[in-house]
Amino acid sequence: MSAPRPNSGILEISPYVGGKSGEGESGRAAKLSANENALGASPKAVEAYRAAATELHRYPDGGSTALRQAIGRRYNIGPERIVCGAGSDELIGLLTRAYAAGGDEVLYSAHGFLMYRLSALAAGATPVAAPEKRLRADVDALLAHVTSRTRIVYVANPNNPTGSYLSGEELRRLHAGLPEDVLLVIDAAYAEFVEAEDYDSGLALALEHENVVMTRTFSKLHGLAALRVGWAAGSRSAIDVLNRTRGPFNVGHPSQAAAIAAMEDLEHQKRSLAHNREWLAWLARELAALDLTVHPSVGNFLLVEFTRESGRDASAAAAFLEKRGIIPREVGGYGLGHCLRISVGLEEENRRVVEILREFLQ
Ligand SMILES: *Cc1c(COP(=O)(O)O)cnc(C)c1O
Repeated sequence: MSAPRPNSGILEISPYVGGKSGEGESGRAAKLSANENALGASPKAVEAYRAAATELHRYPDGGSTALRQAIGRRYNIGPERIVCGAGSDELIGLLTRAYAAGGDEVLYSAHGFLMYRLSALAAGATPVAAPEKRLRADVDALLAHVTSRTRIVYVANPNNPTGSYLSGEELRRLHAGLPEDVLLVIDAAYAEFVEAEDYDSGLALALEHENVVMTRTFSKLHGLAALRVGWAAGSRSAIDVLNRTRGPFNVGHPSQAAAIAAMEDLEHQKRSLAHNREWLAWLARELAALDLTVHPSVGNFLLVEFTRESGRDASAAAAFLEKRGIIPREVGGYGLGHCLRISVGLEEENRRVVEILREFLQ
C-alpha cells in the first residue's frame, strides 16, 4: 500500500501551539499567554468591523489599497512598497517559500520566534539556529553561521519570547555582514512598544536595500489578533515576490476596515502604550522581588525564570497559575523549559499573577 507523501521536512514539523485559553476554577481564566492587547481593540476598529458586516457577500479589495495607504501615511512609505497579509505569519511563510527550498538554509537565533523554523521545514529547507548570548540574538554568531546555502536570516526585533532586542547599530552591522543575495527579514511585531532610544524597527534598512524586508502586525499593539492582519515593507523586488505569491484576496474586507480604523485611533494606541509601560515595569519589579529572575523586556510580555527543582519549576508554576485562573505561556518549545512567558494583562490580572506566584513560592 502506498499513500500520498508530503514533501520532505513537512512531517518534522510539530504544529505551532498558540497560547492556551480556557476556564479557571472561578470562571473565565485570564489569558496571558499570547501577548494580546490587555485593553482589547480600539472601539473605532470594532465599529468599523461591525459596519463591514453589510458587505460580507463581496470579495475584498485584493490589494488592500486603502489599508496600505493608511500605513503609508503613518510611516511615510510609498504604498507600493507595502504588502498586507493574513497576519505577519502569512508573510513569513510566503517569504520562506519564495526564497528557500530543499538544500537551502534558513538562519535565525536560538530562541527566535518559532515560525521561522516551522516555515523553513514547510519549504523543505534546513533550519539553522545560531546560539544567543544571555538570551539575546548575537550578531557575530549569526554571521558565523552564514554559509553558501543560507538564503534567509530572520530576526525578531524585539524577540518573542525573550523580550530582548538588537539596537539599530547591531541590526545594521548584521545587514552589512550578510552577502547581498541573502534576504534579511526583520520581524518587528512588537516595534510599537519599544521606547529604547537605540532601537530601530528596520524600516529604513528595508526601504534602502534590495535584500531586506520588515514585517509588522495588527495583532499586538492594535489588538486585532482575531482578524489576521500584518504587513511587510521592503525592496521593490521582495514586494513584487510577495504580491506574486500571496492569495489574491488574502486579507478580508472587515479586517482591512478594522485595521485602518485602528491605525488612525492614536488615542487608543496611546492608552495601550501607557498601560503597558506602567504594568510591564510593575510586573518586572514585583516578580523580581519574589526572587524570580525576570529577563528585561521591551515588549508587552515578560520571560520569567524558575528553578529547575521538580515541584517548584516552570511547569509546576504554570499548573498552579492555571488552576487559579491565570494562563501563562510555557516556552519549552523555545528551549526555555525553565521559563514562563507572561503577557501584561489588566491591572487586576497582573496583581493576581504576583499574588499567586507569591503563594506558589512559599
Ligand atoms: C505574534 C508574533 C507574530 C505574528 O503575528 P501575526 O501578525 O498575528 O501573524 C510575528 N512575529 C512575532 C515575533 C510574534 O510574536
